[in-house]
Amino acid sequence: MASWGRVIRANHFVARPRFGDELDGFLNGLSADRPGLAVGLRRSYGDTNLNPDGRIIDMTSLDRVIAFDRETGVMRAEAGLSLSQALQILVPAGWFLPTTPGTRFVTLGGAVANDVHGKNHHAAGTFGASVRRLKLLRTDGGAQEIGPGNALFHATVGGLGLTGVIAWVEFQAVRVPSSSLDAEDTAFARVEDYFDIAAERKHSFEHTMAWVDCSVGGAKLGRGILSAANWYAYGDVAPHRELPSKTVPLDAPGFTLNTMTVRAFNSVRHELKSMRSGPYRSHYEPFLYPLDGIANWNRLYGPKGFYQYQCVLPPATARDGVAELLKAIATSGQGSPLAVLKDFGPREAVGMLSFPMEGTTLALDFRNRGESTLRLMADLDRIVAAASGRLYPAKDGRIPPEMFQAGFPKWQDFRAYVDPGLSSAFWRRVSG
Ligand SMILES: Cc1cc2nc3c(=O)[nH]c(=O)nc-3n(C[C@H](O)[C@H](O)[C@H](O)COP(=O)(O)OP(=O)(O)OC[C@H]3O[C@@H](n4cnc5c(N)ncnc54)[C@H](O)[C@@H]3O)c2cc1C
Repeated sequence: MASWGRVIRANHFVARPRFGDELDGFLNGLSADRPGLAVGLRRSYGDTNLNPDGRIIDMTSLDRVIAFDRETGVMRAEAGLSLSQALQILVPAGWFLPTTPGTRFVTLGGAVANDVHGKNHHAAGTFGASVRRLKLLRTDGGAQEIGPGNALFHATVGGLGLTGVIAWVEFQAVRVPSSSLDAEDTAFARVEDYFDIAAERKHSFEHTMAWVDCSVGGAKLGRGILSAANWYAYGDVAPHRELPSKTVPLDAPGFTLNTMTVRAFNSVRHELKSMRSGPYRSHYEPFLYPLDGIANWNRLYGPKGFYQYQCVLPPATARDGVAELLKAIATSGQGSPLAVLKDFGPREAVGMLSFPMEGTTLALDFRNRGESTLRLMADLDRIVAAASGRLYPAKDGRIPPEMFQAGFPKWQDFRAYVDPGLSSAFWRRVSG
């Protein structure tokens, strides 16, 4: 079994309950000596959803909607329901997810456990901000329904699956006037310009994010395109098509995404987009989920897999820090075709270990080339640490313990809420 980045592979004993009342039986067998872990659709890239040689509870068959109120937009569903499945019900009724990550193939349990963010973080905060209640099962047989204000709730949101198994989640959806977005793209020539454009756009647009070309340095360092969008006021409400249109059936050979390919990809993307003038209208699917149209796109990186590196830097250091990161990446020649820049808003995080904080986040993919990639990420770590930033645990699978502990100062308080019968490769690595 592997996570999305496919760098770390390990054997697991996997249980796949079909009904919620089977969970107790699986949890009873877990202890500090034989810890387990609940997982969803395994869209985390690194090791937060791995428990090598240990037990895994695959929650994806627990995907029933328990209640949905079309008047108030409150949905309660089992934790294995995917955001994609939820949208099939929400959208025709004129509702949408309060926020969504860049893939809809994420379960409600995974969305809560990583307190995921989307392109509208500056307007909506994280997914956890919409959660009204959830049911948490502990390995000592305890079961609790908890919500905002309860300390265990704030440990569970963003709690990486370590505080218990989330059986169901109740969240508040948001009204949308249509299933389309009025969007516009703005090309920028240098990374400094990103900050000015993003600062201006976030006042008038609910969704903003930028693609950045990490393969060029010098005067073109950090050139890119910022996309911004609001819901279109007059269209119809039509959900996405459920199946991806294309698939990558086999591992691509390792050379598929070499430096030249990456440079060409970014260059073409930039040139094409900057030629497009004015606004455009888009269904939510291609705008919010650009990669979901290709199933198993993670195989494009070849059999050794890839890392995703995501950091956030606070406003005071973001301008210089992001430029420094991009310089180091461009110099390394390991530039990523999928670099994303996005500003997080000032909302206080819901979870004790929630990743988002006010500032600018940069996310990049690196094909796994072994030592040289690890060295590059260690160099990036030093820049992030000097800028008082933090790394996203759901991403690279090798965050050094000192980076995690410095980035998440509440981690010591969090320990008190960890269920001793649950653990992950990530937790053993960073909390030792
Ligand atoms: C293409 C792509 C784009 C992405 N974009 C974003 C983005 O924009 N923003 C963002 O925040 N993230 C993003 N992610 C990361 C993804 O949203 C998170 O990793 C998410 O948590 C994955 O959910 P999952 O269902 O796959 O859970 P998994 O990866 O299987 O597990 C994630 C964590 O949740 C825990 N967990 C899962 N289910 C339960 C449960 N029922 N009870 C207790 N714990 C549970 C696991 O133990 C683990 O710690 C992206 C990932 C991909 C592949």
